[in-house]
Amino acid sequence: MTKTVLISGGGIAGPALAYWLRRHGFTPTIVEIAPAPRPGGQTIDIRGISKVVVERMGLMPAIKEAQLHERGLEYVRANGRRAAAMPVELLDGAGAVAEIEILRGDLASILQQATTGVAYLYGDSISALDQDAQGVLVTFTSGLQRRFDLVVGADGVHSKTRRLAFGPEEQFVQHLGGYTSYFTVETPEPLDHWMRIHSARGGRWVGLRPDHDPRYAKALLSFRAPLLSYDRRDVEAQKALLTERFTGLGWHTDHILAGMRAANDFYFDTISRVVVPEWSRGRVVLVGDAGYCGSPLAGHGTALSLVGAYVLAGELAAAEGDHVRAFPSYQKIMQAYVEQRMELPPGGIKMAMPMTSLGIRLRDTSTRLMTSRPFAGLLAKLAVGQPDKIELKDYSVKRGDPVGVAAEEAE
Ligand SMILES: Cc1cc2nc3c(=O)[nH]c(=O)nc-3n(C[C@H](O)[C@H](O)[C@H](O)COP(=O)(O)OP(=O)(O)OC[C@H]3O[C@@H](n4cnc5c(N)ncnc54)[C@H](O)[C@@H]3O)c2cc1C
Repeated sequence: MTKTVLISGGGIAGPALAYWLRRHGFTPTIVEIAPAPRPGGQTIDIRGISKVVVERMGLMPAIKEAQLHERGLEYVRANGRRAAAMPVELLDGAGAVAEIEILRGDLASILQQATTGVAYLYGDSISALDQDAQGVLVTFTSGLQRRFDLVVGADGVHSKTRRLAFGPEEQFVQHLGGYTSYFTVETPEPLDHWMRIHSARGGRWVGLRPDHDPRYAKALLSFRAPLLSYDRRDVEAQKALLTERFTGLGWHTDHILAGMRAANDFYFDTISRVVVPEWSRGRVVLVGDAGYCGSPLAGHGTALSLVGAYVLAGELAAAEGDHVRAFPSYQKIMQAYVEQRMELPPGGIKMAMPMTSLGIRLRDTSTRLMTSRPFAGLLAKLAVGQPDKIELKDYSVKRGDPVGVAAEEAE
């Protein structure tokens, strides 16, 4: 029976997997490149079947407590006046799959608390992997060397694990033509539970979303661009790049840029899809964005991670730790669901972030039209979600110790 599993990445997929592995009797260790848990991010959705997973983890009460309720999305002009709005009831009223909205940082800390018994190695990362018939010899950038039975890449879109075991990033990551950045600022105006976006020429979005604390807001800056060359670890250079692209755009942009310079939860990344034909190579397997990611435009990243972690751990337990059987069944069970939830909305980034004033006006006009009678009913029908293309097995937990408070509640 396989016992030790190294998970690279302590975001969402990594801790969710560690939780389930521990409960099934494995010994997971998480290595996270950041020096401490990363608090950042905006509101993310726990949708469809992933709600069943968090219920089985016993995390629903904590998630409900941290839940945010947004009233919808408003597009605003440079002078702050509303250009168009998409109220959330319009979709919910039609019986769309109810969604749970929670700040990504809140979900990350709930998962942290649910994995208190798991060893986290912060500020380190994998630098080399050497597989043999008995296991994997892992060399860390700190110089440490340790053997594990299995290694999991849960290290996001730019997964180092994937690069080491599967090949260069270019084989698997498709740039969708944009970048996005999230961070917290003092709110320049009461948001009244609305997400507000100022869409400007050049495919630029300046946005504010509600925080729990009404004094603050979750800001976003997104822009369309081909692949840029920048240092992913150089936060100051990324902030300078955003300042250059966004200064003087009107609305609250300059306030948001000033807040960004002081923000300590700054996140910046490409808008990309990840497609990996086979999710495992020997004793190394991928979960979450590292293996399958539709980008924030597709919007199901967190759900896919939570479900992927549940299925991967469950299949390993069902196969008594035999990765040769477990890894292909994990992919087989997940494949149709992953493909379904990686689909981009019609028009993709071009429709969402128009380049010209005319494009912005057309997008606003079509939003107003769609949300007006009688089209609202049609939109609601279109928005009714298709059920997730996956059936969750009920992997019984035979051996594992409960991990943290949430698991004890779940017993
Ligand atoms: C700080 C942050 C904020 C985010 N905010 C949003 C948001 O607002 N909206 C949204 O839709 N999505 C957001 N995302 C992405 C979202 O979390 C994922 O799409 C989704 O939840 C899948 O989770 P994941 O665990 O696979 O990837 P991620 O959540 O990206 O987690 C990957 C983790 O791996 C770590 N890591 C990276 N490289 C290495 C390495 N070499 N070694 C060890 N660890 C490594 C990262 O620091 C991170 O903690 C955010 C991600 C992060 C990291």
